Amino acid sequence: MAEEEIKYYHQTVDQNGKRKWLYPLIRIDFWYKYRSVVAYVLLGFLFAAPYIKINGHQFLLFNIIERKFILFGQVFWPQDFFIIVLMMLTGLVGIVLFTSAFGRIFCGWVCPQTIFLEMVFRRIEVWIEGEPAARKKLDNSPWTQDKIIKKTSKHIIYVLISFFIANTFLAYVIGTEELWKIMTEPITLHLVGFISIWLFTAAFYYVFAHVRELVCIVACPYGRLQGVLLDKNSLVVAYHYLRGEPRGRIKKNEVNPQPLGDCVDCNLCVAVCPTGIDIREGTQLECVNCTACIDACNQVMDKVNRPRNLIGYYSEEMIKNDERAPKLTLRMKAYGIIILIMIGVSTYFILSKKDIDVSVLRAAGTMYQEQPNNFVSNLYTAEVVNKSAKPVKIDFAPESKTHKIQWVQPIDSLAPEATAKVTFFLLVPQSEIKKTKTSVALQVLQDGAVIDHIETNFLGPVN
Ligand code: SF4
Ligand code: SF4
Repeated sequence: MAEEEIKYYHQTVDQNGKRKWLYPLIRIDFWYKYRSVVAYVLLGFLFAAPYIKINGHQFLLFNIIERKFILFGQVFWPQDFFIIVLMMLTGLVGIVLFTSAFGRIFCGWVCPQTIFLEMVFRRIEVWIEGEPAARKKLDNSPWTQDKIIKKTSKHIIYVLISFFIANTFLAYVIGTEELWKIMTEPITLHLVGFISIWLFTAAFYYVFAHVRELVCIVACPYGRLQGVLLDKNSLVVAYHYLRGEPRGRIKKNEVNPQPLGDCVDCNLCVAVCPTGIDIREGTQLECVNCTACIDACNQVMDKVNRPRNLIGYYSEEMIKNDERAPKLTLRMKAYGIIILIMIGVSTYFILSKKDIDVSVLRAAGTMYQEQPNNFVSNLYTAEVVNKSAKPVKIDFAPESKTHKIQWVQPIDSLAPEATAKVTFFLLVPQSEIKKTKTSVALQVLQDGAVIDHIETNFLGPVN
């Protein structure tokens, strides 16, 4: 590709401040191959996860409307919300730690925006419209039959993929069963769901067909945080300026006035960049660490018989001190310890989470009642939540053999993921009441087996 052509593809804004459409080249080499494998594994997981069931529950569900979350088949209800918050905080600290150590590796390797744009939508574009020069020529050409066919087929495929993504997105939010109902039942029954699917389809289409790299450059808050998260020891995609400079073209039969560095100033690293930047100008907010420039430069280095990795994963300190491996800094160690503690605490709460949640309270505004045979009773209400995917039979029994329960409204069978309120009297012999407020204990039984012990207060007349 000619130098003028390559330079044309640089930068996202023209001299008048208008957006300049990017036509990045694709160069397949070591990192691109690994990124493709990671991308397709993640895409497979993304599309399959809502359809995987564990113990009758969807593998992953983020139902913010009903405040119900399922992670790896474990249901988290509003009562468990603190665990979700704890996990989110752990994730946040993890991202901070990860970014401080490995820069924006998440953006280049894991972020759905990059994966969909570079590994799905861009590939389709290259397949239909060709290499950058052909794509640019097509964009600037009048509407011929060839252009109409190419553009229409590309955008139809884009809409179909966006529709597929929108459905998957909704499967994570409302669940696969609800999504299936929207698809199979009359539209009038699911008007909101139906409109949502098409709104999300339009949003995904707009992002991947038009907004593209501006999401990373302008909209993404994570990208904005790089300035505070990165330091001199963070491993990022970087140009080894000590090796590369002074850059200059290799000219046959010409002696350069000064010895040149390894950069042959071919601009290929700029031509492949999906955010239109020149990595030789240093670490920039726009760099999503996609590794495309590493692959492109390595191919150039191979051609000119110079060592690979003029552009590679380096920290500022590694380049400056000509070191091969990054250093583990005090900041990284501190983040590491914090995150280990947070993972430990989250794991503890997840493992001790129960399938049945019971809370018992004395009925508000009631005192004690005197009962026949010298018993005193208190009225209680209990809320029982069945977080499991199967129906359960719940019962209460007093811990003490001398106490009795009289049901006002018993629980029969509690449906999966259902909540029930029950009311009962607890009867205690008057002879046992020594204080106005006595502590009493109840057993909670699930299908006949004791699963919990509840302590509550009992009011009564002092003897
Ligand atoms: S691809 Fe490598 S050699 Fe070419 S301009 Fe970029 S850094 Fe220099
Ligand atoms: S500078 Fe390199 S790693 Fe960064 S976005 Fe551009 S091509 Fe990707």
